Amino acid sequence: MANIFKQTIAQVQIASKILKLKPTTVKKLSTPQRILNKKIVLSLDNGKKKLVEVYRVQFNNARGPFKGGIRFHPNANIAEVKTLALLMAIKCAVVNIPMGGGKGGAKIDPKKLSVAEVERLSRAWVGAFKNNLGPDLDVPAPDVYTTPQIMDWMVDEYSKLVGKKSLAMITGKSLGNGGSAGRETATAQGGFYILSELAKKIKLQPKKSTVVIQGFGNAGYHVAQLMYKAGYKIIGLSDSQGGIVDLRGLGMNPENVMLSKREHGKIHSCYCTGSVCDCQNYKHISNQELLELPADILVLAALENQVNKSNVKKIKAKIILELANGGLNPDVDEILEKNKVMILPDVLANAGGVTVSYFEWLQNKKNQHWTEKEVFVKLKKIMVASFNDMCRIIKKHRVTPRTAAYILGIERIVKAMNQK
Ligand code: NAD
Repeated sequence: MANIFKQTIAQVQIASKILKLKPTTVKKLSTPQRILNKKIVLSLDNGKKKLVEVYRVQFNNARGPFKGGIRFHPNANIAEVKTLALLMAIKCAVVNIPMGGGKGGAKIDPKKLSVAEVERLSRAWVGAFKNNLGPDLDVPAPDVYTTPQIMDWMVDEYSKLVGKKSLAMITGKSLGNGGSAGRETATAQGGFYILSELAKKIKLQPKKSTVVIQGFGNAGYHVAQLMYKAGYKIIGLSDSQGGIVDLRGLGMNPENVMLSKREHGKIHSCYCTGSVCDCQNYKHISNQELLELPADILVLAALENQVNKSNVKKIKAKIILELANGGLNPDVDEILEKNKVMILPDVLANAGGVTVSYFEWLQNKKNQHWTEKEVFVKLKKIMVASFNDMCRIIKKHRVTPRTAAYILGIERIVKAMNQK
């Protein structure tokens, strides 16, 4: 991931060159404003103590409070958190919401902790950074292995520490505790809105288009459902343990695949109603093979770096929706461009999540509750406008979609930096 930081900075530099930014501005843009790195003491259930490394990177707040998730992961490290914080600053600017970029973490495997230990860790994380958090300062959210329940503990801890209820200090809370309607599906929904806008533009007919989706978690499952309902022909799906394929179309509701995954722990299993099973036609396939299937659209909704120099030439899709942060290694954009593959880059494709997080923050501040319908009307407006902004820049500067998205975001951040 250290390398990923350099690659992300390289992308910033490409966009900055086109914008003719001064070297001092580029340096400021590429440097986090604050890196917080501490060790906390976690009390384990067996009475022992464990030292845990925790992080918060506040990259840029020119456009508003730092915004970005907290991940609890054994491989969390400062370089990764720094990269993701920078991406958050760009992403918030791409969708034009008044937030900056931040990211946090704890280097620990929460799957090895009891519920009580995760709660103590969550509260200790807030205790470590309380002076640098707050509704108008830095507003975290969930990320890998952190949940609405963890956000609820964190807001409770913060409220206790500052002596007043402060719902707007964190987003991604549970619905009964100030969370926003629509947050669970927001990332997939946002990606689906821009894909639909592209489909309109290039006259792509969902019923005649085949789709492969890598990853079947929050982003992948919900986008599968949206695409299935819109009539797209899904020919392949996968999770960490492999995938399923039927080139004629899987022809089944992703909900059934999820039921089967829940029952058997993997998606290459069988969903049966009585004696009728839906697995008769599909084949089991590896994740690598899945990426190389002859589909019109490839959706990346799992991990970073899935398409890289080693497999890019085997990719046959004509459109890639990059819901996963860094799903495409930045080195492959130009190769895909030459092969006439249209990329919908992560900083736009998955920005629906942070946009609805921003809506949650607004609702908390105004003491309002919006319906899911209201949330999605507002989300669609933002996603469609940002997609069209990106398309204008692609045309104006003749650049790749990712460079266009970076130009869009960076131009807005620099404008705010100059006004401060
Ligand atoms: P998740 O943990 O809910 O799901 C991840 C899925 O990927 C799981 O189904 C897992 O089995 C699968 N997976 C893991 N390794 C895989 C592999 N090698 N091949 C195929 N599948 C694999 O995570 P999520 O929230 O859906 O996030 C997915 C991606 O989207 C991440 O990159 C995340 O940063 C990004 N993202 C998510 C959100 C959000 O709101 N959920 C917002 C912005 C970005």
